[in-house]
Amino acid sequence: MKPWLGEEEAAAAAEAVTSGWVAQGPRVRAFEQEFAARVGAVEAVAVSNCTTGLHLALHLLGVGAGDEVVVPSFSFIATANAARYVAATPVFADVDPVTGNLTAETIAAVLTDRTRAVIVVHQAGVPADTRPIYDLLRARGIAVVEDAACAIGSTLYGAPVGSDVDLAVFSFHPRKLVTTGEGGMLVTRHPAWAARARRLREHGMSASAADRHATGSVAPEQYLEPGFNFRMTDVQAAIGRVQLTKLDAMVARRRELAARYREQLAGLPQLQLVADPAWGTTNYQSCWVLLPVDSPVGRDELLARFTEAGVSPRRGIMASHLEPAYADLPAVALPVTERLTADSLVLPLYHQMTEAEQDRVVAVLHAVFGR
Ligand SMILES: *Cc1c(COP(=O)(O)O)cnc(C)c1O
Repeated sequence: MKPWLGEEEAAAAAEAVTSGWVAQGPRVRAFEQEFAARVGAVEAVAVSNCTTGLHLALHLLGVGAGDEVVVPSFSFIATANAARYVAATPVFADVDPVTGNLTAETIAAVLTDRTRAVIVVHQAGVPADTRPIYDLLRARGIAVVEDAACAIGSTLYGAPVGSDVDLAVFSFHPRKLVTTGEGGMLVTRHPAWAARARRLREHGMSASAADRHATGSVAPEQYLEPGFNFRMTDVQAAIGRVQLTKLDAMVARRRELAARYREQLAGLPQLQLVADPAWGTTNYQSCWVLLPVDSPVGRDELLARFTEAGVSPRRGIMASHLEPAYADLPAVALPVTERLTADSLVLPLYHQMTEAEQDRVVAVLHAVFGR
């Protein structure tokens, strides 16, 4: 991945700097409104990154000590860590072998009387089939948080991921499509939750510094509940506003390059390339490929072959339950997660990629897997 940043973003950041308003202010508010409009959300609340946004989402739901939060192990570790931040216990569920996402079945298998929430990840940009998941969980009073870190510009049931959901959180880390350096966005269809999230991200203050400045109010603010400092800066928001105008072009280019990978690899049917599911479209944030069980070379050896050819792919998505950070949890059987994490890799894919660069990636795969 390479971020697609240019002079426009640099100029917007410079304008924020010279304005003197560099912390959270009017540009953050404008970015929130433009983001909400783009994904079809009622409310969008900017935060310092997706990880703090996931923490905030569980805090808003009142999840705490003694509660269990179901998460995929097959995800960046921040998903599981969010449960720990609120003193809850993460419970790992397995994923679907084709999408890499939780399903109603894999979630149902690990529910207990203590399950309070489930974090559903739209992994690598592939939308999870959330309808059966909401049906299963709403009936039991269990909340859902969508980890949409990777899924800006992906679609689900014909609408953007994040539209009209209880809670979803996006990331603007440079590995994602839209970047602000660091940054995140929590979206919700509940205005009261958004109002509380705005307060909690800013120390629990009754009125933000930007609001008091705008209204000229001299009334001292109150601190209504213990909050956090999860603010985004106006410099970041200025960059994000420009990035958002490029989102459609980013998704289109990634889908074009992914389609070209699929064409060029059609002669190697033993390789499983990530694809659109029946219920939506992926932004190809990560174009991962799964090696066959009887692969002539192991995944790590294949990574080494790529490195020799001057190509830089990455191992596939990690499995959090295999990390030392989670060694204290009881052992769980996650066969699909373990197969996917051991035998997959993420192919290079970035907006500026040329066909000649892509051909070099394809050539390595043909050399290894072709007849
Ligand atoms: C990137 C990522 C995160 C963390 O996002 P940050 O903005 O870096 O905190 C969380 N979950 C998933 C699935 C991710 O890919």
